Amino acid sequence: MTTTTIRLPAAQPPGTVLGTAPDIGESADAYRATGGYGADTGPGELLAHLDASGLRGRGGAGFPAAVKLRSVRDHGNRGNQGDHGGHDDCGGRPVVVANGEEGEPGSAKDRWLLRARPHLVLDGLVRAAAITGAVRGFVYLSDPAAGESVRRALAEHPPPLPVEVVETDHTYVAGEETAVVRRIDGGPALPAAKPPRPFEQGVGGAPTLVSNVETLARIALTAARPDLRLDIARGTLVTLSGGPAGPVLTEVPYGIPLRALASRYGVPDAAGALMGGLFGGLVDTRALDLPLEPGALSAAGTALGCGAIRFLAPGACPVTCAADAAAHLAAESARQCGVCVSGTSAVGDALAALAAGTAGPDTAERLDRWSRGLRGRGACGLLDAAAGLAGSLLRAFPGHVRSHLAAPCPVCAAAAPAEGHHRLTVTVPQIADPRTAASPAPLRAPLPVPLSSPRPAPPQRPLPALKGTP
Ligand code: SF4
Repeated sequence: MTTTTIRLPAAQPPGTVLGTAPDIGESADAYRATGGYGADTGPGELLAHLDASGLRGRGGAGFPAAVKLRSVRDHGNRGNQGDHGGHDDCGGRPVVVANGEEGEPGSAKDRWLLRARPHLVLDGLVRAAAITGAVRGFVYLSDPAAGESVRRALAEHPPPLPVEVVETDHTYVAGEETAVVRRIDGGPALPAAKPPRPFEQGVGGAPTLVSNVETLARIALTAARPDLRLDIARGTLVTLSGGPAGPVLTEVPYGIPLRALASRYGVPDAAGALMGGLFGGLVDTRALDLPLEPGALSAAGTALGCGAIRFLAPGACPVTCAADAAAHLAAESARQCGVCVSGTSAVGDALAALAAGTAGPDTAERLDRWSRGLRGRGACGLLDAAAGLAGSLLRAFPGHVRSHLAAPCPVCAAAAPAEGHHRLTVTVPQIADPRTAASPAPLRAPLPVPLSSPRPAPPQRPLPALKGTP
């Protein structure tokens, strides 16, 4: 299996999600020393700050965090007034879940966050519980190293409500919110039909907040520095790949043009990108003028998703990239919706044939039909991702599709098809144990370019130190 390990960023200014020592697991003492776990910002005040900042979820859908928190709180209040069929375990009172299961193969931020900054996530989870009135919390993950880090953090700084770590197998769909609820309730980590959505009826039947771990980290940062709420809401972790130096995790402000990001990453002449993990589809070089901002990207027909971006370096073939992505989706179909089983396989087979130079003349027409007809027909977004991928390849790279129909492509021919399922996968390096690491540990490999400093255009206020830091 071919995967590449992301390189960690250089030490960041305190107050960013990446923290000062991305290579070392942060201890409770170190977190408290930067203002973590402070009691100055109460739940009502924090919710108002989150509303004002417009913080959006970082799991992929980009839903406003304050709206989601309020929905869970309000459904919990209704339950307490007697019209909620809650579970005995939690009496209908809300439940909060830190979702650290990242299914996108090109993303590493959530596993890194749980391994390196577990207290930041747990602080955010506790604050989300206070806002929603939750009486119970879960940290949901599949990464054993992340689980170990979270358990150590819970023992070091016990939270004021019971918080349990629930592990799952790593799959593309295991982090989908209804799959999360099913798994925590003891079932399979598979998406369920909606409605009801978890905020209405989730774990044990109770209103449930399923929140991405980076979102929770940004909630905790907002509580510590409400004066910086806009900067915190407009910063985001991105996992970049496709460049000659390998994948990189970094933090950037919304608004940076994709081309500037590509340039800082070391691929100034990128021919396009695979956006949002596999979910945003392929974009061509014209789209690189777009700002990295959820609204702008979605208006242009693509998506930021979980912040995983694979740039197409010169010489990379978008058809190989699409074939690899479709192979991954076909292999990861949870096989519970008939249309998904047949649809993802059909898209995968067609793109594999295109890459191999063996596709029939009607392949482009079939891909186009599937790209429009398969959307919205599965219980989760996997089928939509496969459909979107096919459509985006046809829209962004019609010349490549035509040339692959005419003759095999040397780039595709050189790529081993059997590796396609895993070729887009990045892995996280082990993070040093805070109890044994020298402080600060040297980074394993320096970044080829300083991605976070100086700040890219448009100018943003830097995130200064949390209170209490030098
Ligand atoms: S759409 Fe596919 S991956 Fe999603 S639930 Fe249905 S079968 Fe599973």
